[in-house]
Amino acid sequence: MNLLQVKQLKNFINGSWVEASTGDTAAVTNPATLETLVHVPLSSESDVKSATEAAKKAQKQWALVPAPQRAEVLYKVGLIMKERKEKLSQLLTMENGKVIEEARGEVQEGIDMAFYMAGEGRRLFGQTTPSELKDKFAMSVRAPVGVVGIITPWNFPIAIATWKSFPAIVAGNAVVWKPATETPIMAYELAGIFEEAGLPKGVLNVVFGSGSEVGESMIDQNDIRVISFTGSNEVGRGIAAKCGQRLKKVSLEMGGKNGVIVMDDADLDLAVEGILWSAYGTSGQRCTACSRVMVHEKVKDELEERLQREIAKLSIGNGLDETIKVGPIINRSGLEKIQNYIRIGKEEGAKLLTGGYIMENGNHKKGNYFAPTLFTDVSPEMRIAQEEIFGPVVSLIPVKSFEEAVEINNSVEFGLSSSIFTRDVNRVFAAQRDLDTGIVYVNAGTTGAEIHLPFGGTKGTGNGHRDSGVAALDVFTEWKAVYVDFSGKLQRAQIDVE
Ligand code: NAP
Ligand code: MG
Repeated sequence: MNLLQVKQLKNFINGSWVEASTGDTAAVTNPATLETLVHVPLSSESDVKSATEAAKKAQKQWALVPAPQRAEVLYKVGLIMKERKEKLSQLLTMENGKVIEEARGEVQEGIDMAFYMAGEGRRLFGQTTPSELKDKFAMSVRAPVGVVGIITPWNFPIAIATWKSFPAIVAGNAVVWKPATETPIMAYELAGIFEEAGLPKGVLNVVFGSGSEVGESMIDQNDIRVISFTGSNEVGRGIAAKCGQRLKKVSLEMGGKNGVIVMDDADLDLAVEGILWSAYGTSGQRCTACSRVMVHEKVKDELEERLQREIAKLSIGNGLDETIKVGPIINRSGLEKIQNYIRIGKEEGAKLLTGGYIMENGNHKKGNYFAPTLFTDVSPEMRIAQEEIFGPVVSLIPVKSFEEAVEINNSVEFGLSSSIFTRDVNRVFAAQRDLDTGIVYVNAGTTGAEIHLPFGGTKGTGNGHRDSGVAALDVFTEWKAVYVDFSGKLQRAQIDVE
């Protein structure tokens, strides 16, 4: 099967496939093989302007289409994605590196989101409420914001795009989307699917190019009323500052330093499985990846031993091979960042149990591979226990009590995901209350979000908004309060109340 029909991707603006005005392009590399897959356009502000103008024009008509009819397009998108699931998954593995089983999971997330948000076309609930005055009716409705700007990262190139664009579109907005330059193929495919599904031209526009050029100029467009961003903390802060000055609504989903708590009464087999999956899946390149384990001192030695035994069995390589469990790191600079944290961890006095190196021999020569790594005797203030590494590196932090574990869990700047393994129901409920993260798992690792629940985090992970679930609609709609007076006379609120 020839998956890639083109060598050169194009922007999708106003329903047409067009080259970037600059004529510049960049190579897109498969991180498992270092082969060039395609070339991606590097657009400029003028392309962003064309996309924004097209979106503005299209949105006026789109907002007038009844929401259940807008939803029909999403149903079709979901059906096409379902029919094309294997092709999309393989392309996703090729551009991003995640193993094929996980790629299928990510594409499925997009399919689920399509059907879920299509259902919203017949809900989009507001509230009706009594008026304080006689013969007066009051209600609130969700109104689209207009044109929305979406900026997405490389680590979930299709799922995150669906979390943002599907609710935006069903709510009657038009979209300008800048995908990560590392992983443009999923964006190219998804735009093509929208085209096939009959989305009117201009409702979804894709502009490829760098964050500093295309991303920044999206923020500069007055007609883009919302920016929904997922990516790093550093970039997110910069975007928030610029949006703040322009009074532009901004939704940020950023990093994590997610912890698993393993209590002395935990099912250790389950805990090991949960840690392995959430720490080394996607080679640790998930915002929700498990990066710390607060382990009760009574089970520390046993957990260390079992984890090392299981890590030794992980097969590392090209994720298109069904037997591979851990794929490559996205690029060379990702590898170097991880390597640097290994050095920092050693210098800080953490004990390296396994891994800790770039794999450069044999089958691993032609790709960006990092050995799954386990540190122990890590103390909570060490940098490897505080900062996001974004690689297959786990730090075991011994604890004496549940309370200490929760305190350490909450001591980082991020607040995305956390988990606890215990059989004690009292601790389960205390944990879900006390863990200061947007997502809490009980007897599971830190990954595995379902699309109909809100996704996002507290503290440095975000700015109070959520992706997916109905919560996503709050980002892409304005509340409008509507009062209908049918008394035939002027009734003044707060004054003419008997
Ligand atoms: P990143 O470097 O912040 O990039 C994210 C996106 O922002 C890319 O499309 C990037 O474009 C663009 N960008 C870069 N500079 C920009 C600027 N000045 N203005 C506007 N846009 C700009 O993050 P990443 O390395 O791709 O992704 C990894 C990070 O994302 C991690 O920190 C991870 O935790 C986080 N993440 C969070 C979630 C969540 O929901 N909480 C989910 C997944 C990932 P180019 O790369 O094309 O230049
Ligand atoms: Mg690449």
